[in-house]
Amino acid sequence: MKYYSTNHQTPDVTLQEAVVKGLAADKGLFMPERINALPAAFYENMSQMTLQEVSFAVAQAFFGEDIPADKLKQIVFDTMSFDIPLVKVSDNIYSLELFHGPTLAFKDVGARFMARMLGYFVGNQQQTVNVLVATSGDTGSAVANGFLGVPGIHVYVLYPKGKVSLIQEKQFTTLGKNITALEVDGNFDDCQRLVKSAFMDAELNAHMKLTSANSINVARFLPQAFYYFWALAQLMKNCQLSIVNCQSSIVCCVPSGNFGNITAGLFGKRMGLPIKRFIAANNRNDIFYQYLQTGQYNPRPSIATIANAMDVGDPSNFARVLALYENSHAAICQDINGATYTNEEIADEIRRVYETNGYLLDPHGACGHRALREGLRPGETGFFIETAHPAKFKDTVEGIIGQPVSIPQRLQDFMKGTKQSIDMTSQFVDFKSFLMNE
Ligand SMILES: *Cc1c(COP(=O)(O)O)cnc(C)c1O
Repeated sequence: MKYYSTNHQTPDVTLQEAVVKGLAADKGLFMPERINALPAAFYENMSQMTLQEVSFAVAQAFFGEDIPADKLKQIVFDTMSFDIPLVKVSDNIYSLELFHGPTLAFKDVGARFMARMLGYFVGNQQQTVNVLVATSGDTGSAVANGFLGVPGIHVYVLYPKGKVSLIQEKQFTTLGKNITALEVDGNFDDCQRLVKSAFMDAELNAHMKLTSANSINVARFLPQAFYYFWALAQLMKNCQLSIVNCQSSIVCCVPSGNFGNITAGLFGKRMGLPIKRFIAANNRNDIFYQYLQTGQYNPRPSIATIANAMDVGDPSNFARVLALYENSHAAICQDINGATYTNEEIADEIRRVYETNGYLLDPHGACGHRALREGLRPGETGFFIETAHPAKFKDTVEGIIGQPVSIPQRLQDFMKGTKQSIDMTSQFVDFKSFLMNE
């Protein structure tokens, strides 16, 4: 399978090149030249399959031409080795809990998959591959933990000083080994800009082999499609729904920031996944919401909110959404609706759902739940992606519900480590000179 750049100014590349390069030479994002539909038999059997089996079938549609089946199966089975339960919150709303992995956020799926796929591709090369990753909170920990101890790979995590929670910070600053954390005096967009500039810098690329683990990398972004299929498999099984029922009634809501997660879901729909429509839930960084309303895409500097992993002012994967729908605003609006919430609305939703349904949301999932509660039409059933465990935002959530939130053991373990990070300005010259000396 070939991968093209969304900017169309550079030749198509192989999967290996797309994964190792991360970003195309013309600054575009890689897209597969084809999106293979899954056969009818798969959909008929899906509800009887395990998470790993469903994921492997989807992975084969993406990567089957480029990676031998036994290797791909191993990558998929190793990646998808934790539960992703679909939990009923109320009559017609379900939570797809993607926080049962090592760092308690959905990014574990893409990060673990990418670490294994990159390991497969660079396995017998001499030169160290350096993974650069900008994080607004959860990406850094998922990527750092996914790659920890992988031979031949060094990871640099760039994060905005003072803008991630203590627990998030601990998860990528305490690991040591092949993980280096850089604390950038700026916001997430500054971190992302530094990473993108590094890839464009000829001198730096001559000095060291660089790749990106942000959701711009196809190996992180595409595997996120797996769990949309798994959600439908569980819905079909638990609610006795047929494929036709699902097509006409299932709504999926994705709390969105950089739009990698929802774009993977949209790929799923293109592969035949029976979903009626999507809702992209934004916090006040609602550039995509405004795009849906007006047809105008106006990026602007991100602002800090309590759903901080969605504080993105210029979502990278918007380019992929446009490519998928051939730039048609009308077609995009047909498949995706939007929602936007203030901090107060997010907090109210956490409190309300906790008191009414006894279910504790994190601030990101709260956007997703609220968008379904307000946006479901008669006869529809919705599920939202619960993107992180509420304990990752302990102080915020405790402040809202007025009750202590218990921290799962694997999160407590991270808190014991000592923070090791390097201060960095938001100027590319400084970042570059640091890397040139590595
Ligand atoms: C990254 C993240 C999001 C946003 O996902 P995108 O793929 O960037 O849209 C939402 N919630 C949490 C908890 C996250 O870590």
